[in-house]
Amino acid sequence: MTVITIDGPAGSGKSTIGRELAARLGYIYLDTGAMYRAVAWAARENGLDIKDEKAIAVLLEQIELDFDFRSGRVAVNNKDISYLLRSPEMDALSSAVSRLGAVRNHLTHLQRQAGQNGDIVAEGRDMGTVVFPDADFKFFLTADIHERAARRKGQLDALNKTVAYEDILAQISLRDEADSKRTLSPLGPASDAVVIDTTGLMIDDVLKKILTLIKIRQ
Ligand code: C5P
Repeated sequence: MTVITIDGPAGSGKSTIGRELAARLGYIYLDTGAMYRAVAWAARENGLDIKDEKAIAVLLEQIELDFDFRSGRVAVNNKDISYLLRSPEMDALSSAVSRLGAVRNHLTHLQRQAGQNGDIVAEGRDMGTVVFPDADFKFFLTADIHERAARRKGQLDALNKTVAYEDILAQISLRDEADSKRTLSPLGPASDAVVIDTTGLMIDDVLKKILTLIKIRQ
């Protein structure tokens, strides 16, 4: 069984690359950002204060979270909410909810369970540092913040969600700062991760790089 982790900030290309890498290798793809987004969505849906750790811990015990690791779809109490998770509001709420220890513990447990089921590409902020410290291959993707904001704008445009580039840039900068400076599992490369700057690179170039590194070390 092989575990590959891909961490990095918003817009670094890790979702697109993680999904494609998993497809090419025939591995499970674990989008852990979607898991934090699903919890944030459920908290908001239940009218909870996103900082109220106790209330959110109770909620986590009451709801059923289902993740289809092949399609990437997410369901809360059997309702598919995947299409509701990609918006600037959910970006901010998921970042806020991810600071809570109760949420991190709950999701880390689910993520490790997913890792027991076979070969996996796990993508997020703390895959190589906390969730899978013994992963076989660890990658950390970065990119210039302007390029990351432009990529995110392209993704939102494709979903017919119009958000100004300047607003996206400001939100990404705030989220980077919050994710990097939080006490629990802050965003950062594991000491044994390969760091790839994807600025100016095409998805295929990054994929080739990763696949080559995996082949060399296998
Ligand atoms: O990757 P994505 O942008 O979907 O993640 C949404 C938020 O979830 C991030 O800003 C981060 O705060 C949180 N997250 C995390 N740990 C992970 C994955 C995501 O804290 N492994």
